[in-house]
Amino acid sequence: LPKTTVSPGGALIAGNWKMHKLSSEAVETLRQLQSCLAEAGPLPAGDVLICPPFTALWALRASLDPSGPLGLAAQDVHWQDQGAYTGEVSAPMLVDAGCRAVLIGHSERRAQAGETDSQVAAKTNAALDAGLMPIICVGETLEQRQAGETDLTLKAQVKAVVDGLADQHRSAELVLAYEPVWAIGTGQAAVGADALAAAATIRATLPPQLAAKARVLYGGSVKATNVAEFMRHPQIAGVLVGGASLEGREFGRLVISGLKAKSR
Ligand code: PEP
Repeated sequence: LPKTTVSPGGALIAGNWKMHKLSSEAVETLRQLQSCLAEAGPLPAGDVLICPPFTALWALRASLDPSGPLGLAAQDVHWQDQGAYTGEVSAPMLVDAGCRAVLIGHSERRAQAGETDSQVAAKTNAALDAGLMPIICVGETLEQRQAGETDLTLKAQVKAVVDGLADQHRSAELVLAYEPVWAIGTGQAAVGADALAAAATIRATLPPQLAAKARVLYGGSVKATNVAEFMRHPQIAGVLVGGASLEGREFGRLVISGLKAKSR
């Protein structure tokens, strides 16, 4: 059977390419990532997702083994399946383009596109309806952190998703990415202890049937040199990576280091 979903419970590393790369550049980056991983020999199990711009999904799909650990995810999704929503892309369309997963509520979308907690919840339902793994991004801004509101912020963001989940998804498998906004693209990653504290808060905000299956990722200035600091903890299933995923071999080194740290 073709692998269309992300393995439950396992390690997960996702690279968010944001608004970078033409299709040809995306295919070349994937090729470099694949050759870096192949040279490393057998690796511990784990899913590796690339989140390219929508326009590169089809081109990348042709270079990927549908049953392999390397797969596609989108950077956003609309909450309706179809309709008069100019410029939007729906969850069934993402499945059609070969996606296994989708980022939801990335801080750049919350800040730049005014995405609200209730839209994040609606998008989560749409992803789950279509069989896509939702990777829901949460995290505090620098101001919230300095005001001592990290926990409050995380709880509110997670609770909005939980409260908005449709009945049929009340025990769904969710991925929650803790991405402190101050650590994104700044080169200043959180420390492992921050990520562990946030993971605990996120998990404690989920009802037991969701907490049992949920995975928490860390994101924010993750590189090959610091990925192990996060992935060595059992409470952190993996990482969401921006800048360090743009170059294929660099991302490959990060993936190798992360998966090895997880299996130790
Ligand atoms: C991100 O945008 O999700 C991210 C973590 O970016 P960076 O790795 O560049 O900080």
